Amino acid sequence: MTEQYVRQPIRCWKCKKVFTLLIDTAGNPELSRTCPYCGASFHINLAQYPTTVTTVVRNIGDPQPQEITVFVLPEIIETEQPDNL
Ligand SMILES: [Zn+2]
Repeated sequence: MTEQYVRQPIRCWKCKKVFTLLIDTAGNPELSRTCPYCGASFHINLAQYPTTVTTVVRNIGDPQPQEITVFVLPEIIETEQPDNL
């Protein structure tokens, strides 16, 4: 398992407040969460963003750094009202 977590600012489509979410940029691109301020549900699909290849060293002294593909995320992810509400 290769994981690359970033703390990503998200703007709620409903109350417009910005909060941070811990996102695995090398993992599942589809996330469903709720806003911590107003409780509104939102869905994010990271697959809409470009990707880049980065090198990570998993352990100190590891002779084989790994190359992984991660999503390049905007400064703030804007969310939209889900279709099913
Ligand atoms: Zn909200």
